[in-house]
Amino acid sequence: MEIPHLETRWDYRLRRESCLVNLYPHPTTLSKAYVDLVKAWGWKSFTIIYENNEGLVRLQELLKAHGPYEFPITVRQLGESSDYRPLLKQIKNSAESHIVLDCSTERIYDVLKQAQQIGMMSDYHSYLITSLDLHGVDLEEFKYGGTNITAFRLVDPDGPEVRKVVREWNLSEAKNKKGEISSIIRDNNTFVKAETALMYDAVHLFAKALHDLDTSQQIDIKPLSCDAVDTWPHGYSLINYMKIVEMRGLTGVIKFDHQGFRSDFVLDIIELNKEGLKKIGTWNSTEGVNFTRTYGEAYTQIVEIIQNKTFVVTTILSSPYVMRKEASEKLTGNAQFEGYAVDLIHEISRVLGFNYTIRLAPDGRYGSLNRETKEWDGMIRELLDQKADLAIADLTITYDREQAVDFTMPFMNLGISILYRKPIKQPPNLFSFLSPLSLDVWIYMATAYLGVSVLLFILARFSPYEWDNPHPCNSDPDVLENQFTLLNSLWFTIGSLMQQGSDIAPKAVSTRMVAGMWWFFTLIMISSYTANLAAFLTVERMDSPIESADDLAKQTKIKYGALRGGSTAAFFRDSNFSTYQRMWSFMESQRPSVFTASNVEGVERVVKGKGSYAFLMESTSIEYVIERNCELTQVGGMLDSKGYGIAMPPNSPFRTAISGTILKLQEEGKLHILKTRWWKEKRGGGACRDDTTKTSSTANELGLANVGGVFVVLMGGMGVACVIAVCEFVWKSRKVAVEERESSLCAEMANELKFALRCQGSTKPIRKKGRPCDASIGVDDGRFHPLGSYTSYGFVTNKEPIN
Ligand code: GLU
Repeated sequence: MEIPHLETRWDYRLRRESCLVNLYPHPTTLSKAYVDLVKAWGWKSFTIIYENNEGLVRLQELLKAHGPYEFPITVRQLGESSDYRPLLKQIKNSAESHIVLDCSTERIYDVLKQAQQIGMMSDYHSYLITSLDLHGVDLEEFKYGGTNITAFRLVDPDGPEVRKVVREWNLSEAKNKKGEISSIIRDNNTFVKAETALMYDAVHLFAKALHDLDTSQQIDIKPLSCDAVDTWPHGYSLINYMKIVEMRGLTGVIKFDHQGFRSDFVLDIIELNKEGLKKIGTWNSTEGVNFTRTYGEAYTQIVEIIQNKTFVVTTILSSPYVMRKEASEKLTGNAQFEGYAVDLIHEISRVLGFNYTIRLAPDGRYGSLNRETKEWDGMIRELLDQKADLAIADLTITYDREQAVDFTMPFMNLGISILYRKPIKQPPNLFSFLSPLSLDVWIYMATAYLGVSVLLFILARFSPYEWDNPHPCNSDPDVLENQFTLLNSLWFTIGSLMQQGSDIAPKAVSTRMVAGMWWFFTLIMISSYTANLAAFLTVERMDSPIESADDLAKQTKIKYGALRGGSTAAFFRDSNFSTYQRMWSFMESQRPSVFTASNVEGVERVVKGKGSYAFLMESTSIEYVIERNCELTQVGGMLDSKGYGIAMPPNSPFRTAISGTILKLQEEGKLHILKTRWWKEKRGGGACRDDTTKTSSTANELGLANVGGVFVVLMGGMGVACVIAVCEFVWKSRKVAVEERESSLCAEMANELKFALRCQGSTKPIRKKGRPCDASIGVDDGRFHPLGSYTSYGFVTNKEPIN
């Protein structure tokens, strides 16, 4: 009959009747608002609790937003019964902390109350309530629990329009009841349901349309019969006018699209805090979510909440992070523990003003995910079960753990390294003077020496300038003499190699060239040798079979392992790097197991293993151990780089505040002070520092062990010289005896020996035979020192007759 129809409730049947306008936000658009909010929060998984099928339709966009391969969404129906606890318990056991609650406004209180009873209203739970009338629910009991309860609202009860209208209502009601004005003012914030406000707006809209239309044209009212096909002639004009008109009502700006659905509406995002429901932002269909609460406001709010809290801190005993205090009397509570982590939480609690109770994780483990059962153990489990609020220890931030719990900024940086026993000092090598040059170089040098000597010998024979008159007094000699015999060449080159001279000097340019180059060669070689010698003699040689993880991977004699269920083991398990994969397979295949239950056990195994076991450990813990146990050392660098962080249950609102405090402590240098205190000072720190200084002070002194080889060579040389002297003696005596045929070899030797042993006089009579020698004999250069008569030789090979 073309009578305008104004609807004010949620209607999912998308009726496209042309004579209809609906003031309730469009279902699909409203659904998008939930999606936007969930995305803005970064929820990765959540549970939807709905009441009836309409709820599912309302949330269809949210359901669509998460595909089957992404993070899971669980959908649960409330059911008819008013006891929701079994359902809520199941949700709690699934460790879900993000909940979207879609139910009638009347049931919200009951659901939240029962959730509170079973412990689902903690700091770590977040509820998104789809009702637009949450401000009509009594949330007094949930204000202080710290639970994040958020919803949208269409009507701002504090808005000027609403206040005005409420005041008018109350006044009219008071007039009817003839009550007191003051009580009416107090009652000012009467709850205005969204639907009531929409009804109010609808009436106003209709009135305005009618009024405006009435001024432009005459609207006649005539009865319509249902039987006859009769229409109201002004219906379309009125509805079309309503669709284009724009006005402000209790639910904000009222505007419709051409289909008569509400468009461009704005929703307030409200959140429950200590003062009640507070607006924290707005949503509109074009811009999405816009949080108006500043970071500072949010931070202050969190800090305020923290101040009244007593956190349960889970940890495990691990030196020097958490240790039992040594005391004569029995200690209880937090006083039982001391260490870096204990001091750290104390500092953080001082800054933020909370209390805490330290509790050890029952299984004494850090936290690893069982791939089959998908269950966590250790401290992570404690957090997920919400038995603890914080986990503080040497707990490494890893990808897997970050998926399950929240971590703060790292308070310490480290990497995996190897703990092994210190290399054994090698006794100095007797022949360490040979070390500066490698064997190759020694061989090359010997070859060069022989080569140059032979070349010199050959060139000298070639060069005419090397042939001299053996008797300068005789200007017309019969023979010329060449001083570079093979032996003399060898003597000349060895002399210069040893930085000594010999009385032989080359005269020809060619031989001088050879000599010059050889001297240059020896200059460089000797300088290099000398430069390197000091290092080789003074540095103590350490014998370590492994110097890096690669060395470990290449061998099987030294066993190696890591802490069971820790991040170090996980690093090797998950690594794509072939060396680490090989190391992981090796570790897994070893029987008895190379994995340990604690770092302490690992350290003990290294000490007892005496070189047969290396422990893969985190660098900071290694630093602590080697500061106290001087037998041990860190081998190689770090295999990775990561940090320790404080873990807390997922969705923890305190993360930002605690992270901020860690940064503050770091910038103030507090963390550094704590590290020095627990690593270097307390509990026997610095025990190995003397050790290192002692070794460095004795390093410069050379003992006999370092240079003994030189003495050995000297003695060897002397011995060889003596043997050669005996040979020369025997050889010459035999020769004289044979040539002179006057005496036997023994007699000759005895004769010579007698003379030699007389140890007197430096002259010796020559027994001459044949042609008398000329004057030059006495001043001969000593190269032909005779035992007996000089002249008995005749021509030496190196003398050339002059033609
Ligand atoms: N910090 C490691 C963790 O959080 C434990 C020690 C290790 O694995 O080396 O699991």
